[in-house]
Amino acid sequence: MKKKVLVAEKVNIKAINIIKEIAEVVLAPQADVEEFKRLVKDVCAVILDTTIEFTSEIMDLAPQLKVISRTGVGVDNVDIEAATKRGILVLNTPEANTVTVAEHVISLIGAISKHLLFLDGEVRKGNFKTARRLYLPVDLEGKILGIIGYGRIGKAVAKKCLSAFNMDIIAYDPYISDSDFISGVVRVNSNKQVFAEADFITLHVPLTDETRNHVNENLLSLMKPTSYLINTSRGNIVDESYLAKMLRENKLAGAAFDVLTNEPPLLSDDLLNVPNIVISPHSAALTRECTIRVAVEAATGIVDYLKGKNPKFIYNQEVLK
Ligand code: NAD
Repeated sequence: MKKKVLVAEKVNIKAINIIKEIAEVVLAPQADVEEFKRLVKDVCAVILDTTIEFTSEIMDLAPQLKVISRTGVGVDNVDIEAATKRGILVLNTPEANTVTVAEHVISLIGAISKHLLFLDGEVRKGNFKTARRLYLPVDLEGKILGIIGYGRIGKAVAKKCLSAFNMDIIAYDPYISDSDFISGVVRVNSNKQVFAEADFITLHVPLTDETRNHVNENLLSLMKPTSYLINTSRGNIVDESYLAKMLRENKLAGAAFDVLTNEPPLLSDDLLNVPNIVISPHSAALTRECTIRVAVEAATGIVDYLKGKNPKFIYNQEVLK
């Protein structure tokens, strides 16, 4: 009997066809936990996005499960310890979405610095003449971009902001070596310095015990009232209530978020009810091209495993030991 692979998100047909070469594909409706629990029982592998929390309880429902393959970088919705304990490999696709998320960050920086959404709204209200001078945008040239987490996406954003906007760049990442920093990017040794000095701060850290709620009052209150915060990493990293308070009280020029603590958010959530923030629906990596790349990579990892080869990106290498 063919092994079964559960695909828990809408992926490109190319990925489905890759799996079909070697296994039966079982499709689960996206973000439906109850259906996911029902279907996971007899599968050997799962393709997963961020909408399901893969807990140890769900793993216990799936005795044949050997691989969880995330279409993306962050594996924070998978209980890694529980998976490792059960000998389940967790794969991700860390290189496939770097350029796409970096482009989204640049777009968010453009949107907030030029007040595009606000100005568009004013034109539609008939305020073409007044809006032009009412609410002046800012130049990016010569402004300081602060990067928290100088990994793949942080580096790609740095390169783009250097070459496209000639910004000054400072970056904080205590876990990498000096040689990782490209010319034009100044390494700083305290995240407080980034929050105090930068005009635009962009977050590119994983969600871990250390980073959860890390960007709270202590750091946010250091920001200049003319500065902007961009978050495309994970919602739970920022204290949204405190940020909303700052935006409401004009203690910050603006913010742009692709990720939120509640996904989807409630319409009453703090950040949905304050001015000067642009929000996208965790869609930074969801371009036509990138969705194909990540799905194909996630599927290839599973097929490699089923063929007895080591998948390219294994998050919990310990399982192989
Ligand atoms: P990466 O692993 O290449 O980079 C993360 C960097 O953060 C590493 O260099 C690490 O040393 C650094 N870091 C870890 N803890 C830190 C801390 N406390 N302070 C400062 N630096 C710290 O990952 P990446 O590919 O650049 O992706 C970064 C994150 O972006 C992912 O973990 C994921 O959560 C998020 N992401 C979001 C989307 C989206 O759709 N919005 C898409 C891809 C990735």
